[in-house]
Amino acid sequence: MNYADFYRRSIDTPEQFWQDEAALIDWNVPCTKVLDYSHPPFAKWFVGGQTNLCHNAVDRWCAAQGERAALIAISTETNTERSYSFNELRTEVERCAAMMQSLGVGRGDRVLIYMPMIAEAAFTMLACARIGAIHSVVFGGFAANSLASRIDDAKPALIVSADAGSRNGKAIPYKYLLDEAITLSTAKPAKVLLVNRNLAPMEVVAGRDEDWASLRAANMDAHVPVTWLESNDPSYILYTSGTTGKPKGVQRDVGGYAVALASSMKYNFCGNAGETFFATSDIGWVVGHSYIVYGPLIAGMATIMYEGLPICPDAGIWWSIVEKYKVTRMFSAPTAIRVLRKQPPEFMRKYDLSSLRALYLAGEPLDETTSKWISEELGVPIIDNYWQTETGWPILSIAKGVEDLPTRLGSPGVAMYGYKVKLLNESTGEECGANEKGVVVIDGPLPPGCMQTVYGDDQRFVDTYWSTFDGQQVYSTFDWGVRDADGYYFILGRTDDVINVAGHRLGTREIEESISSHANVSEVAVVGVEDKLKGQVAVAFVIVKDATRTADDAGRAAQEREILGVVDHQLGAVARPSRVYFVPQLPKTRSGKLLRRSIQAICEGRNPGDLTAIEDPASLQQIQHALHGDAKK
Ligand code: ATP
Ligand code: MG
Repeated sequence: MNYADFYRRSIDTPEQFWQDEAALIDWNVPCTKVLDYSHPPFAKWFVGGQTNLCHNAVDRWCAAQGERAALIAISTETNTERSYSFNELRTEVERCAAMMQSLGVGRGDRVLIYMPMIAEAAFTMLACARIGAIHSVVFGGFAANSLASRIDDAKPALIVSADAGSRNGKAIPYKYLLDEAITLSTAKPAKVLLVNRNLAPMEVVAGRDEDWASLRAANMDAHVPVTWLESNDPSYILYTSGTTGKPKGVQRDVGGYAVALASSMKYNFCGNAGETFFATSDIGWVVGHSYIVYGPLIAGMATIMYEGLPICPDAGIWWSIVEKYKVTRMFSAPTAIRVLRKQPPEFMRKYDLSSLRALYLAGEPLDETTSKWISEELGVPIIDNYWQTETGWPILSIAKGVEDLPTRLGSPGVAMYGYKVKLLNESTGEECGANEKGVVVIDGPLPPGCMQTVYGDDQRFVDTYWSTFDGQQVYSTFDWGVRDADGYYFILGRTDDVINVAGHRLGTREIEESISSHANVSEVAVVGVEDKLKGQVAVAFVIVKDATRTADDAGRAAQEREILGVVDHQLGAVARPSRVYFVPQLPKTRSGKLLRRSIQAICEGRNPGDLTAIEDPASLQQIQHALHGDAKK
């Protein structure tokens, strides 16, 4: 098939296009209207249709392939591997649904899930979907304050959690944080259900806390039929990563999401029933929702849930999983691949990776060096895909399942079917031409699968996302981009990561990309720092591959000169950072996103802000050190 025609059809006749796609899933009752866009920007897909995510992910597959693997939970933290067939998964989900019902949870109630990457977390998500409860998974690494604000926003009837997560062999107590968060919150849940992994002590609150194992034992023979939901009933709330400020509670529907996932599994991820999918993300993020739990199962694939680091027990762990479970499609993030690139390549060459067809990367810009390296190592196509928590599935990518269009280095690809992607000039609001930089926006209606609203706050949905440009209602991604003459987009960073040097507006991402092309640069962050003369100047923080070359002042000065030379050459002197500092690591969120705002704050002597999502607080001190070393001179 020709992708251009496929795309055109999705844009010109969306109702016919998505009606056809709706046949990829099971409906209890078909819809009466494919699209209701009578109240823009609120789009309703498959109005009147009745379906269920859990039915499509689990029950639907039990008849034809009930004995096949559905969920494989691997933990290198506790050295366990648990595999559940579709039949076994249904049994566990029914038990969990019965457990939740016995705790008073019903249709429309919120269930907050604060759990590590264990099978019970997936059971709980699917059980909520089964009975029409609305789950809200909060990333297990978040501290009490962030958790409390999400509890207050979602007002859950039940919180499901565990004694602890584990990282690098160390237990990370969850229960203690959860108790603290509940104390801080005003919307206290009536019940808390706890999986005890025997990793950390737990204090039980009588009357509130329930034990998973005991409740499960009391519900071994439970049968809980699927509750058929209207397509536009909410399925879940998921808060955005919070890279740019207060997280937004993204609310998603049932039918549109199921159809969008089924389509993307077919056209983007090319997954076939019976094969194995491996997404290395976490259930706390959108990738975990769409491509660890729901997407692969809706496509009848086995899905792998992995708890552990990519380099423990050694850097071969993921590839050993690919070999053992004959993974055909793998999904990860550039940050994880950069971690692997620092390891000796023998680890990935040890395993038989012949089952693997493609590696999908998303979440942050994919630099050319990383992309080329992993593509050569694996010998499979690397498929970048650009999207957001808000959209639930890729906005830009290459839909290899439609047409084998070539990928282009540095570009996530072209607009995906259903998305009317445009670039608008920031000041005039006019559409950009080829190779002209603008804000990436999407014309309404957003396709199926995208957010319905901000949970409990329709006005915030309109104000936040649809009000960037005067006089036109378009969805703003808050990312910069350019499109080449062939329709390939390049993402140039977030609109609030732009710096202004002596009147020139520069994307920090462009400077980072340029610095990355220096052979000794492993990772880089560029931020704009206040400057009396120029307004702002760019400052770069670099992790080098070969640290012996930056071991002393002379070495650092030489490397800095070389790096600045690269920027001068590629972007011009206007983009040249005022300084390049060498650091052992960069502050990132646990989902691998650079905390540029915090780095910038430190450079300007301000408070680095909310750091609950930070991976390693020591990284901020290292930035301080780098700056202070300079001040001493
Ligand atoms: P918040 O909106 O709360 O600040 P966030 O934007 O970090 O949080 P996510 O929805 O997880 O939360 O991230 C989406 C963003 O990640 C995109 O808007 C974009 O900036 C970036 N991104 C995702 N995938 C890619 C990609 N393939 N290439 C470039 N950037 C990407
Ligand atoms: Mg965002």
